[in-house]
Amino acid sequence: MAGVKISRVLKAYGTLNVLHGVDIDIADGEFVVLVGPSGCGKSTLLRMVAGLESITSGTIAIGDKVVNNLPPKDRDIAMVFQSYALYPHKTVAENMVFALRLQRRPADVIKERLRAAAETLDLVPYLDRYPRQLSGGQRQRVAMGRAIVRDPQVFLFDEPLSNLDAKLRVQMRKEIKELHQRLKTTTIYVTHDQVEAMTMADKIVVMQSGKVEQIGTPLELYDSPDNTFVATFIGSPA
Ligand code: ADP
Ligand code: MG
Repeated sequence: MAGVKISRVLKAYGTLNVLHGVDIDIADGEFVVLVGPSGCGKSTLLRMVAGLESITSGTIAIGDKVVNNLPPKDRDIAMVFQSYALYPHKTVAENMVFALRLQRRPADVIKERLRAAAETLDLVPYLDRYPRQLSGGQRQRVAMGRAIVRDPQVFLFDEPLSNLDAKLRVQMRKEIKELHQRLKTTTIYVTHDQVEAMTMADKIVVMQSGKVEQIGTPLELYDSPDNTFVATFIGSPA
């Protein structure tokens, strides 16, 4: 496992500055939620950690390794997106191990990782089914399974629950937290939903317009917000 250190990170798309010097220090095993209104730069920051966006300036380190110039495949991260497009013509098992096959992992490693992930996610009875035969929650678990089998140092989630209905969202929050309690993998979880942030985070990073407004535990933010933006944002209903 490894922590993630984001130092003085700037991002510009042409002349548009979307991140203005972001500093976030994430400890090994911590579950950190990035929260803020739509367009504040959450996905951009996460994609930079993943290696899917270049870093205009500043550094991002995973463990003690600066990863600025490493391609995504060399970063030891796994990302779960909002649109968790599964391969429709592959079974659940095939969907879950696809990345491991691309990495040419040995067959016994693939088999064992699949077994462990399927058990963790209660997917054992569904391994031979196709995505269209699954419920929304089961598909979401397959998407997480694809990430878990890679046994990464860091999990990155970008609004993974926003396509689910309210009831399922509550259940999946709980499942993701339980998973984290079991695996203790360092996690960066992006959402625009304050309730999700307050209920899931060890530490919340509140962002606005490409800047970090405050970093703290849910209780710290609730009890002593640094400014009106944080107070209003945390205090307003989702
Ligand atoms: P969030 O995830 O918090 O909603 P994003 O990181 O997606 O915000 O976007 C932050 C800002 O960067 C927005 O103003 C968005 O329009 C802009 N942006 C994102 N991606 C690009 C891109 N590829 N080219 C230009 N602007 C972009
Ligand atoms: Mg986003």
